[in-house]
Amino acid sequence: MKKIKHFKSTNISDTQLWVESIRHMRISHCFYPGCKNKNIIKSHTLQNNGVISKLALKNQVCMPRVSRDSMGPLDKKMGLELRKVGKNIATTFTGFCKEHDDKLFADIEKTKWQINDKTAFLFTYRTICSELQTKQEFIKRIDYIVNKKFWKISNLPEYTQADYQLNKLAVSDLKRVKNQCDHYLEKSEDKEIPILGIALDMPQAKFAISGYYIPYYDFNGKLMNRRFGEVDFPVFVNIIPYGNKTIAFLTASRDDYEKFYKDFFAEINDLSLVKKEIFLTNISIKSSDNLVISPEAAKNLTRDQVKLIEGENNSDYVALETIAESGRLDLIDKGLNLFKI
Ligand SMILES: [Zn+2]
Repeated sequence: MKKIKHFKSTNISDTQLWVESIRHMRISHCFYPGCKNKNIIKSHTLQNNGVISKLALKNQVCMPRVSRDSMGPLDKKMGLELRKVGKNIATTFTGFCKEHDDKLFADIEKTKWQINDKTAFLFTYRTICSELQTKQEFIKRIDYIVNKKFWKISNLPEYTQADYQLNKLAVSDLKRVKNQCDHYLEKSEDKEIPILGIALDMPQAKFAISGYYIPYYDFNGKLMNRRFGEVDFPVFVNIIPYGNKTIAFLTASRDDYEKFYKDFFAEINDLSLVKKEIFLTNISIKSSDNLVISPEAAKNLTRDQVKLIEGENNSDYVALETIAESGRLDLIDKGLNLFKI
């Protein structure tokens, strides 16, 4: 007869389990297609030298991070908190071996990279890998907790189930785009760059971001994605200091760009500078935790502005966008312009 395993840890408290689960969620591998190297390093999603160091004060930057006393998926205080992070760990993830991190991103690790389709591709590829890692680690963490408690996913609080489902969907969306990029990396000489988009010239700013978001409607009310839809078409956002200005890349897979985003991106390109600033601020808040702000600028933020950055009302805004059936909500100033902080 098979022995039934009794885990000592089934008796541990939810708090202990949540804290413990962080040690079991880590994924460490190289995202480069076919790579089996074991020397995985901590890669910066945003460049340490040219980006993070530029924004740092006393070797620290501010980022929205899960608050230390958060019980994560087991209680509703899952909220992010804008706080200081050491510049050497800010935005790092264990997604590449030393060889591929060095080789693959050499062109965008230079202080003066070129603004072209190839660099847009490289920034986007790194964003895809970094976001994929975050989502996969979240899923692994929840799976660990569920297994330890002999639960099913349906035993989790509703908001955690929704998060779990959204993360699973996100993984398949990101993998779809990553596969297209991987084919290109393996045989670039006879393939078109699989990422297309726009690069906006913006004024110097005290923040940077690497992430993505799902626009549900364009400015004219055309449906582009469905909430909890089987397939979504991510728009990647990279806003990066560049000399004495900022470059904002908005990109998508070539297929998605041609099918859905060509006109949308053209409209964004035609917005006035202030509208562009507001739009980029609003989508940055929705895009990622990889939002880095200089501590000097962060200390002048009002309580309401901090709340916006921590994304407390993000799901309300998504609901509003769905009800209004318009992407124009992203053009409304919510009391924060990240280019003016
Ligand atoms: Zn590798």
